[in-house]
Amino acid sequence: MPLRVLILGGTTEASALAKLVSQDTGIDATLSFAGRTANPAPQPIATRSGGFGSVDGLMRYLGEQRIEAVVDATHPFADQISAHAVVACAQVKVPLASLTRPPWKRVEGDRWRNVPDAGTAAAALGNTAHRVFLSVGRQDLRAFTAAPRPHYVARVIEMPDRLKITHLKLIQARGPFDKAAELDLLREEKIDVLVSKNAGGSATYAKIEAARELGLPVIMIARPHKPAGDVVASPEEALGWLHERAPSLRGV
Ligand code: NAP
Repeated sequence: MPLRVLILGGTTEASALAKLVSQDTGIDATLSFAGRTANPAPQPIATRSGGFGSVDGLMRYLGEQRIEAVVDATHPFADQISAHAVVACAQVKVPLASLTRPPWKRVEGDRWRNVPDAGTAAAALGNTAHRVFLSVGRQDLRAFTAAPRPHYVARVIEMPDRLKITHLKLIQARGPFDKAAELDLLREEKIDVLVSKNAGGSATYAKIEAARELGLPVIMIARPHKPAGDVVASPEEALGWLHERAPSLRGV
């Protein structure tokens, strides 16, 4: 019998793992989305969408679906679902792996100011920023409604509704992005400050390289504490961890 697996997704790594397990007859996996995006990219395995209903709901789902292993491949800033996964998996004794990308590290030429959250990032803009590129995700745009208000350019995967920010231009796009395009964007929009989450990974790093090349300051939002199970660093490592949990795949 194939190993029944739940992948908590919403990231490039989760989709890469879905592709790997789809080619593995020893694994029967479902990829779970929070349901924030109306048209998520098509996937080669079964998907489900929407919250589970906190820890209790996740425990119920794991039991009903007879899940034997969970891989938390959610975004570094998605700390709620990871906290729920750690507690729920411990309660029902289902092993949990957490696919964890390293944060970006400041290198020579970077002009970063590290801040703990989006509210502090908005406050840190002060009165000197005129044209600000926000790469913080749709949900954190609200933090930038307070005065003073420079001109904002924000890139989002999905358009937000009911957002009360004046002087805002929204650009709808999904990564990965390359450096040449990011340089063009920052130049065309005459950006003088970039605000970014420290997401890590390669898909959205080009804006950081482009800011470095243009000598622009970056207000970098640090990651929240994200509870984890067994830490794995890549989709391939997550697949190896799953193989260790599937007796038939270990040949025993
Ligand atoms: P969050 O704060 O950790 O989670 C909030 C709630 O959303 C959770 O309690 C859970 O609801 C539900 N949820 C989150 N991820 C889920 C998943 N993969 N499957 C089913 N339910 C899920 O998460 P978030 O920061 O809002 O992020 C939501 C999703 O977007 C995540 O899947 C994440 O990987 C992706 N994402 C987030 C960011 C970011 O910057 N935060 C960036 C890119 C992608 P219940 O309690 O009802 O189970």
